[in-house]
Amino acid sequence: MIKSAKSPAIFLDRDGTIIKEKGDLTVISRLKLYHHIPAALKNLQKIGYKLIIITNQSLIARGLISEKKLNYIHLYLKKLLAKKGVRINGIYYCPHHPTKGVIKRYSKVCNCRKPEPGMVQKAVRDFNIDPKRSFFIGDSLRDLECARKTGVRFILVLTGVGKKTLKELSQKHSFIAGNLLKASKLVRELN
Ligand SMILES: [Mg+2]
Ligand SMILES: [Zn+2]
Repeated sequence: MIKSAKSPAIFLDRDGTIIKEKGDLTVISRLKLYHHIPAALKNLQKIGYKLIIITNQSLIARGLISEKKLNYIHLYLKKLLAKKGVRINGIYYCPHHPTKGVIKRYSKVCNCRKPEPGMVQKAVRDFNIDPKRSFFIGDSLRDLECARKTGVRFILVLTGVGKKTLKELSQKHSFIAGNLLKASKLVRELN
């Protein structure tokens, strides 16, 4: 038997990239996907990428949502996408905050809060991912920095805070897409 080859993955930011950001997402009724998301994720899945969400959720440290409730929201998100034929392979979240936490065990400097690389590194190990063949798609500088630290190519989407992020980029960044659907087409071209 040949040892199975490493897989490529798309690491996806959640808020502003997949989900419309409208206040804190603490209840399912506030979860709204951008309309193009199922088609975009299906495109990426079809060309062989694992789909892994990487999200900072300091709402937990700040006492605004429990981990249990967040897991419930994520299960709902997975089911919603599954109905459209999309399989999310994993969802990683950082519950911490270095300074604004009110719950002691989550109030700390950690290696998982983006731009730190901990969540991507864990996913790379868990799913035997090849970072060089992978992409991170997100709307913030934190996502960009996290991609850099893990050796994954980055595509900035202009949804969420993406337009603001574009203005803050210190150097011209070559991979920019209007939204995740356009990013999925860009991935196919670069693939
Ligand atoms: Mg975001
Ligand atoms: Zn963390």
